[in-house]
Amino acid sequence: MAIKYICRHCHTDIGQIDSDAVSEFQLGFHFLTPDERRDIIAYSQNGDVTVKVTCDYCRQALETHPELVLVANPLQ
Ligand SMILES: [Zn+2]
Repeated sequence: MAIKYICRHCHTDIGQIDSDAVSEFQLGFHFLTPDERRDIIAYSQNGDVTVKVTCDYCRQALETHPELVLVANPLQ
């Protein structure tokens, strides 16, 4: 299984973890509420997981223009 991180704002590929050894606990998913999990984590049919986070570029943009973000990202 692969865990892919993409930016929720610009959809840039941020990184990927290829490991069956990584659990949701290690990834911090257990900190999320069910609503947050639905929003942030997407499971594809082949078992891959896509996690939507904020890339450095968009993070800087949002820090400069905080009005752009409506929902705080709990993974940050
Ligand atoms: Zn981005």
